[in-house]
Amino acid sequence: MNKEILRANLDKVIWNIEKARLEVSDHHIVKLVAVGKYTSVENIATLYSLGQRAFGENQVQQLEARSKELEELPIEWHMIGTLQKNKINKLLDIRPSLFQALDSIELALALEDRLSNKNQTLDCLLQINSAAEDTKSGVSPQMAIDTYQEIIQKCPHISLKGVMSIGAHTDDLQIVQQSFETTRKIFDTLQTNGATICSMGMSGDYELAIKCGSNLVRVGSSLFEK
Ligand SMILES: *Cc1c(COP(=O)(O)O)cnc(C)c1O
Repeated sequence: MNKEILRANLDKVIWNIEKARLEVSDHHIVKLVAVGKYTSVENIATLYSLGQRAFGENQVQQLEARSKELEELPIEWHMIGTLQKNKINKLLDIRPSLFQALDSIELALALEDRLSNKNQTLDCLLQINSAAEDTKSGVSPQMAIDTYQEIIQKCPHISLKGVMSIGAHTDDLQIVQQSFETTRKIFDTLQTNGATICSMGMSGDYELAIKCGSNLVRVGSSLFEK
């Protein structure tokens, strides 16, 4: 893709984030994670040259390939997709800066086991299925706080930094907003347990997510549209 198109797309997303966050507060800082799953490694390098530093992938395989190809660049890599247990070692070898899709106590215990063997720690977000959709992974809102605290107690090698959620899959903005507000309430409660990151919002709904309290958005398609 042409660098000028990428620059214009990035500027537009940053500007939209800026507008939305200022509606919340001058002090509400929002981080942009650029999601590269629909694009080429070249476009990721170009976005890096334009100043973007945090990138996310939803597959371990792709994350591994890209972080190797771009290993000269001090990119902050995020794993944002569901992790199968047989990919745990691969993920840990990549040493991502944040694993955003910790979606069950079982996965947490399996991760803890490998992490303690490797004498390694991992920053994670607990994924919450706030719209209670069968197609999405994550813990239910009802279980989220207990699960979060259980992971803190049982998994000393996992450093929980907050929560992640994907907005409800519907055109009805009111329902999307409700799903964000559900996650936001859980995040507020978990701040007493050290939660600082509330990751919500993708290309279709990141401005709404920010107004509902998100401080990390994961944006893919809007950055790479032609
Ligand atoms: C693909 C993906 C995104 C980005 O989606 P866009 O709609 O392209 O912005 C965000 N979060 C997760 C978990 C994803 O898999």
